[in-house]
Amino acid sequence: MVLALIGNQNSGKTTLFNQLTGSNQHVGNFPGVTVEKKEGRIKNLKDVTVVDLPGIYSLSPYTAEEVVTRDFLLKDRPDGIINIVDATNIERNLYLTLQLIELNFPMVLALNMMDEVSASGGSIDIPKLEEWLGIPVVPISASKNQGVSELVSRITSVAELGTSPKRLDFCSGEVHRAIHAVAHLVDDHAFVQRIPLRFAATKLVEGDIPTINALKLNQNELETLKHITDEMEAIVGMDREAALADMRYSYIEKASAAAVHKSGETKEQRRSLQIDSVLTHKYLSIPIFITIMGTIFWLTFGVIGAFLRRIMNVGISFITGVTDTALTRAGISPIVHSLVIDGVFAGVGSVLSFLPTILVLFFFLSMLEDSGYMARVAFVMDKLLRKIGLSGRSFVPMLIGFGCSVPAVMSARTLASERDRKMTIMLTPFMSCSAKLPIYAMITAAFFTEHEALVMISLYLLGIAVAIIYGLILKSTLFRGNPVPFVMELPAYRLPSAKTITLHMWEKAKDFLRKAFTVIFVATIVIWFLQNFNIRFNPVTNSEDSMLAAVGTFLSPVFAPLGFSDWRASTALLSGLTAKEAVVSTLAVLMNVSNPEGLAPLLTKIFTPLSAFSFLCFTLLYMPCVAAFAAIKREMGSLIEAVSLMVMQTGIAWLVAFIIYQTGKVLI
Ligand code: GDP
Ligand code: MG
Repeated sequence: MVLALIGNQNSGKTTLFNQLTGSNQHVGNFPGVTVEKKEGRIKNLKDVTVVDLPGIYSLSPYTAEEVVTRDFLLKDRPDGIINIVDATNIERNLYLTLQLIELNFPMVLALNMMDEVSASGGSIDIPKLEEWLGIPVVPISASKNQGVSELVSRITSVAELGTSPKRLDFCSGEVHRAIHAVAHLVDDHAFVQRIPLRFAATKLVEGDIPTINALKLNQNELETLKHITDEMEAIVGMDREAALADMRYSYIEKASAAAVHKSGETKEQRRSLQIDSVLTHKYLSIPIFITIMGTIFWLTFGVIGAFLRRIMNVGISFITGVTDTALTRAGISPIVHSLVIDGVFAGVGSVLSFLPTILVLFFFLSMLEDSGYMARVAFVMDKLLRKIGLSGRSFVPMLIGFGCSVPAVMSARTLASERDRKMTIMLTPFMSCSAKLPIYAMITAAFFTEHEALVMISLYLLGIAVAIIYGLILKSTLFRGNPVPFVMELPAYRLPSAKTITLHMWEKAKDFLRKAFTVIFVATIVIWFLQNFNIRFNPVTNSEDSMLAAVGTFLSPVFAPLGFSDWRASTALLSGLTAKEAVVSTLAVLMNVSNPEGLAPLLTKIFTPLSAFSFLCFTLLYMPCVAAFAAIKREMGSLIEAVSLMVMQTGIAWLVAFIIYQTGKVLI
């Protein structure tokens, strides 16, 4: 049995999905978090699958991720629908419900967030609502796991028996006549194409192109359809879409007048309004955002992160030391000894030592996201983003880009127009992803100990500044035109839940550890090998004679104008294409360090503070890692576009680092 989980964005679908299946999908107080469908089996009911789908507001989709949901319903035909509704916003949510009912699938309405409704003194008359809608209604609270088992038993029995909704008709007057006339007209087509008749009829009256095509109507029927709808428009005095929306909303109004007893706004909504009067204030909003981000960076890199990193380093040095002595005592061959200590331990260890810093940063970021603040920032940013030709919607991918470019590029699917989507994908990689953090931290620890947080912030800002300039250029060249207007509803402010935050941090840690022990592990071994052997596979005593040095030396003239001509720097950049952390592990291997603390002093051999900064700017901006490249290629849909994006980015990185280094040389 397959059940689809359908609802508006931010209504709690993923929270419910996690409760039902016991899995740990990303929940966010942020519209657009789920962009693909996810499947899972209901706990204790192994033969029932639930599918979490992207949030939608209606069954006339216009963004790529909304199409995913509609296609799933019409093509995969689930055995039942769980329609999850945010009870604190019931009128708007029911708009989708009425359309879902028309699909005539077995369906149960899960009335979520009932905890907030009752806390505010409101109530909903469940039997009344069931009577008005003709489907079972179960009040639940997904996050508190209340009513979930009742929901499961209702939906499974409805789906097993194949019970259809008791009511399909929500219309009256002229619209009613039009829908029924069209239903008779296309009855046979809908049957042949296996499209629910009532749904087909309303979509045709609405003028929905995909349905018109799918039904394969003949010329005669198309003309009749046009005749019926023209007549309806003339009599109702509204266009077809407005007429249908009006019909649905007037039904919802009547239903909720009968069943919903509100106490006015909920406590959360009132509180949200108060907080918003400050946080989204016309002049204060941006300074507040900058202050919050500045504080987070200062705490992450200056205070907590640095402290935790020192502890981590002590641990890593200790383990390295123990292994080193053990290997020496056991009389292991010097080559293997070198592979383990100078290769694997130096490389993987140097990357691992940054794990605490990254976790601290993600702790703060998920607090901001889960509380609902980030959605406000997107809202405030709309005006600024509009200036570079993007809309506030693009802020979501950009924000995710600070974590990792791969999901960021994927989340650009939430953008409605092709133009906005491509432009967002092109700008997202400039947002400094978290894999680059170890590089920044390593270099700042070596050259800018006094101003660690300042250098970090300047790098993040540089990435943003370059994205802005590049955006302005794109807007006046490749991507003329205007972004689609931004509409996003602001979720209520909620206390971030400890569970969600721990989950985010755990996911990040898992990702990081997996990378450290796979990609980075292999990369360090390869680098160690290339560094210790020459082209004829003879071991070398001086790594300057190695294969790697040959490649690095070949590349290094390119970087000489940027201030770092040492072959080790160019090699590190090259291996950084596998994963950005590999820049750190490669340098650690190449500089022959025995513990992460030891790397900093050695770096002064190949960098000056100025060239180190220019190196950082280059790493910030040059082409993303292979995983991100693959994601970009997939989402852009063409290899040529993806490759030219990489070339462009690397060119920009070179230019910016060049300007910074050359200007710096003159000034200092
Ligand atoms: P989705 O976009 O529909 O997948 O929604 P999510 O599952 O990501 O949840 C959106 C937000 O609503 C998150 O902040 C959840 O913690 C919160 N939430 C979900 N269910 C409930 C509930 O029953 N009560 C309350 N108070 N909050 C909830
Ligand atoms: Mg979701």
